[in-house]
Amino acid sequence: MVDFSLTEGDQRFLDLIQEEYELGRKFAREVDREAEHKPPVVKTLHPALEGKPDPYQLLHESDEGTSGEIMVDALMHMVSAKDLDMRPEGLGFGSMVLEDFGTDEQKAKFGHLRLAIGLTEPGAGSDPGNMASTWRYDAATDEYVLNGEKVFISAINKLDGAVTLLRGVPDEQGRRLFSSFIITKDMKGFHEMQQFQKLGMHQFDIAGFTMDDIRVPAINRLEADFGRTMSRFNHNRPLVAAGALGLCRSMLDFTKAKLAEGGIEVDYARGVKARSAAEDKIIRMEALWEAAWGTIMEVKWKQTQLGTTSLGYRTEASMAKAIGGKAARQITQGCLELLGPEGLSEDYLAEKWFRDARIADIYEGAGEIQRILVARDVLGYKKGELN
Ligand SMILES: Cc1cc2nc3c(=O)[nH]c(=O)nc-3n(C[C@H](O)[C@H](O)[C@H](O)COP(=O)(O)OP(=O)(O)OC[C@H]3O[C@@H](n4cnc5c(N)ncnc54)[C@H](O)[C@@H]3O)c2cc1C
Repeated sequence: MVDFSLTEGDQRFLDLIQEEYELGRKFAREVDREAEHKPPVVKTLHPALEGKPDPYQLLHESDEGTSGEIMVDALMHMVSAKDLDMRPEGLGFGSMVLEDFGTDEQKAKFGHLRLAIGLTEPGAGSDPGNMASTWRYDAATDEYVLNGEKVFISAINKLDGAVTLLRGVPDEQGRRLFSSFIITKDMKGFHEMQQFQKLGMHQFDIAGFTMDDIRVPAINRLEADFGRTMSRFNHNRPLVAAGALGLCRSMLDFTKAKLAEGGIEVDYARGVKARSAAEDKIIRMEALWEAAWGTIMEVKWKQTQLGTTSLGYRTEASMAKAIGGKAARQITQGCLELLGPEGLSEDYLAEKWFRDARIADIYEGAGEIQRILVARDVLGYKKGELN
């Protein structure tokens, strides 16, 4: 039987993270204004958190008395907006791919590195088949030679390097096989680009890099083809959706509080004909929030059963990302409609949440693409038949 109740242990972690997120909000406006105009720096512990344990780390060390690390981790993302990351820089997405698919030798050699994930290229984001960057094997030196350009790479300007997915130059059968390589910023031929200025999420740096005949030995090549490299997204996409829901929670709570100041309390028991338009809008947005919550928890439950590298819940992961991105867009937009000018005022964070939210429906695979992936899996379409 499915049990939706939280254990005391779950609640303890939700309270801990809520406290940290609320602390972060005190600094959020200043960081939002300034972060992209400062050179990216590797984060250290924010002084306001001195002496406070990291809730995610605590959970990782022991999830006893909770609904399990995977479930509670997702729930923690959804309590409210994470406006500021106040903890030292963690491992990047690429480090997780190394953790999933690296050999013991590769983990021993590269495990200490903080690695971004380099997939997107100027002409290839939604459709990796268009990747123009290449790898080739040079038998004369027993090295792989990497060339090309990657863009919009999260935190690349402060991490040590990246796991980058490239397509091979055509083999004898004309195939261009995908393969992932570990590259570091000190390699000859690695060129970092300037930070990308964007609509929202200013606390979060993205930039690009080029690879100009980077030469790496065999140990830098991961046993991670396209499918394996992308499998990490099945774990992460629902978490991106969960983070978006956390942001929406803050937006909804703020909007309800503002409506209450104006004398409008949402009465959930009142029938649809008796409700005001504002109440109806809030209730509908909260229903979307709940639907997204349920979709995320379902995929996280499947992850608990099947393991993090399983492909057994990739459709559900895409569903979660699609509905989370949609909720982020529609709820923040809907709340602005109810808030009016206060929604746009820099006296509050609502306008920031509105800007931050849009990105959730783009990165880690845009909503349009998730819906295509779901349609392919559910209806059995092949690539090219539907789009
Ligand atoms: C904050 C942020 C962080 C990111 N971090 C990383 C990272 O760490 N590593 C990395 O590799 N990339 C990263 N990205 C890139 C991101 O994954 C891509 O931007 C995203 O996948 C979309 O790809 P694209 O930019 O090439 O857009 P495009 O593929 O050109 O798409 C543009 C628009 O067209 C739509 N579209 C495309 N094809 C179709 C179709 N067939 N049918 C309907 N609509 C379609 C898309 O949904 C999108 O809305 C990041 C992006 C952002 C904004």
